[in-house]
Amino acid sequence: MMATQQRKRHQLRQSMCPTPAGAVPVNSKALAPYNSYSWPEFVTLGYYVDKPFTCRDCGSEQVWRASQQKWWYEVAKGFVYSTAVLCRACRRKEQKRKAEARKIHMEGLANPPDGRGSQAHPDVCELKADDATCRRRA
Ligand SMILES: [Zn+2]
Repeated sequence: MMATQQRKRHQLRQSMCPTPAGAVPVNSKALAPYNSYSWPEFVTLGYYVDKPFTCRDCGSEQVWRASQQKWWYEVAKGFVYSTAVLCRACRRKEQKRKAEARKIHMEGLANPPDGRGSQAHPDVCELKADDATCRRRA
């Protein structure tokens, strides 16, 4: 009896979502929380597929692998609407640039020019992705 039920369920799943080769199933419970009325495409599909994209910096043709997407959304908890925009080489360059910016930022926090100390620093001062300068709230 159990075996029959399992087989039925299996058949049902097969007929409902024919998964293309190379697809990696989505575990929607592992995704970062998001507020939206629409679901990201991979959630609707139920699996990740390799996605071709063009590197934003060097313009080279790249493929964002299904397994990399799963890692990004479910392990790294990347924002569900974010996608790969940089190739590996450019991403490394970008990380280095950000690390430098963060270092400069932290040094600024440790030695504030007005001498009030880091207490005076507003908590909104998160280093934004492309904002190397730290703006203070007056
Ligand atoms: Zn590139």
